[in-house]
Amino acid sequence: MKKSLPQRILIVGGVAGGAACAARLRRLHETAEISIFDRGPHVSFANCGLPYFIGGIIEDEADLLVADAKLFRERFNIQVHTRTDVLSIDRESRTIEVCDLSTGEKHIEAYDALVLSPGATPLRPPLPGIDLPGIFTLRNIPDSETIKKWMEEYHTTKAVVVGGGFIGLEMAENLAHRGIEVSIIEMLDQVMPPLDPEIAAIVEEHLRDHGVHLALGDGVAGFEALEAGRLIVKTQSGKSHEADIVILAIGVRPETTLAKNSGLEIGSRGGVRVDEQMRTSDPKIWAVGDAVEVRDWNFGFDTLVPLAGPAARQGRIAADSICGRASTFRGVQGTAICGVFDLQVAATGCSEKALRRAGDQDFEKIYLHPTQHAGYYPGAKRMHLKLLFRKSDGSILGAQGVGKDGVDRRIDVIAMAIQKRGTVYDLAEAELCYAPQFGGAKDPINFAGMIASNLLSGDMPLVHWTEPTTPSTTFLDVREPSEFAQGHAEGALNIPVGELRHRLSELPADRDLRVYCAVGQRGYLATRLLIQRGIPVRNISGGWAIAPYIR
Ligand SMILES: Cc1cc2nc3c(=O)[nH]c(=O)nc-3n(C[C@H](O)[C@H](O)[C@H](O)COP(=O)(O)OP(=O)(O)OC[C@H]3O[C@@H](n4cnc5c(N)ncnc54)[C@H](O)[C@@H]3O)c2cc1C
Repeated sequence: MKKSLPQRILIVGGVAGGAACAARLRRLHETAEISIFDRGPHVSFANCGLPYFIGGIIEDEADLLVADAKLFRERFNIQVHTRTDVLSIDRESRTIEVCDLSTGEKHIEAYDALVLSPGATPLRPPLPGIDLPGIFTLRNIPDSETIKKWMEEYHTTKAVVVGGGFIGLEMAENLAHRGIEVSIIEMLDQVMPPLDPEIAAIVEEHLRDHGVHLALGDGVAGFEALEAGRLIVKTQSGKSHEADIVILAIGVRPETTLAKNSGLEIGSRGGVRVDEQMRTSDPKIWAVGDAVEVRDWNFGFDTLVPLAGPAARQGRIAADSICGRASTFRGVQGTAICGVFDLQVAATGCSEKALRRAGDQDFEKIYLHPTQHAGYYPGAKRMHLKLLFRKSDGSILGAQGVGKDGVDRRIDVIAMAIQKRGTVYDLAEAELCYAPQFGGAKDPINFAGMIASNLLSGDMPLVHWTEPTTPSTTFLDVREPSEFAQGHAEGALNIPVGELRHRLSELPADRDLRVYCAVGQRGYLATRLLIQRGIPVRNISGGWAIAPYIR
């Protein structure tokens, strides 16, 4: 059986996808001759750590190197060729041409199986002044060294980050950590595009609280040079932002040069087309990572999701496939997390805006604001969660979370539930670990499932702040007067939940009654009380805690 396996396996790109593939190949195929080629000086380095290296949180560059050529050789018997560019693929003769970038020498290497994991290239749009010194993108260790050198040479005090996605936000945090004044310019009217706007608004508030200036809904129009080491960033709205450094973090495009030039099929989104086993249109060539298009697990269409986790899993699956195993890639559901100062921002599955874009109407949403562990245990911190699910059968569609602690765990649990086609009823029943310092006897996950189940069963009719009011709408605020005094819906009636039973006569009759409290819990009690007394009412999901962020 082993004899029929490919013997000479070459891998282009030795970082997330390529390195994972190489290591798995060795574990499955002891006698294969495996070589990795990478045009950069390193393989298997931590791209994800680069912003923190620039910020000085990771002090030693060596800590970014997960494995090096020596480790690959000694532990895996894999040959690593760094500073070696793969120039072309000859599919007919099954060879690649490589160039040793240190000597300029070129030579041909033959393969039985070829894996492409060349990653993606940061976007650098052809704007006026884009090639001025001081404008950087970040992809690898040399990029981060160049950025650090520039900042030291010009004593950077002001930075503009173009792009409010996760790399932009991580860079903003790390530049701020170095004492640099940071502005983020983002063409969309929100940061973190995978999030819905009201959840992104919580992140924006946090950025502003940490001194980061936000210019949202404004694209960059061009750059002009001032004196050495200083620039002006001009925006489409006519504004000017001064900067000693500009970081472009506006996204990436799949690196498909080799694939295109050798005639491999490219998909509609511009990535290399692969099947579920990561095989390209050539049966002897596999491709993985940021360079490929994969199936969107939520909607079923082809998509690009440049994240390290999918790249590593795809690398493993390509290795399995090369070795005759039947593993398949399930697709990407977009599970991601980002640290923004001391805030965790995470999401999985569909967002509300993606569902609306797809014309989907069979969904509902809830908001909740639980603490990450028992409220009575010191250090309890509130998080904001949003859960999206099918109205028709309760299946979970997506979730987003923001908070100082414990968001990662909740989004991870929901990510797994989505992958197993779970429902809100499963979340309500989930048996999760609990002790006061770690969670709650009713974990935020259970709460989310229970709130959604109550909505679907009709026990707790819900309404959202976004639903337009009518002349017959009355807001009923069931918080304490002291809370009410600090801010409330316009014209709201304030009857604390504890007094409601005795003050029912104060409620106007035949109204569109919308009840709310701080987070939704007392609103739920009030809703149940009123419904059982024959008074129709709806609870405003998420209560007053989410109101300031709705737009
Ligand atoms: C600053 C930053 C932060 C990130 N943070 C996160 C995070 O927190 N979480 C997360 O999930 N993802 C994160 N990512 C994304 C993640 O790093 C990528 O999704 C992942 O590395 C993709 O793996 P890959 O193997 O496809 O490509 P890469 O890891 O980019 O590796 C591709 C390699 O191929 C080499 N190469 C390309 N073409 C050739 C050629 N012709 N010849 C030889 N070599 C070639 C390149 O030099 C490169 O070293 C981050 C990325 C960056 C840049």
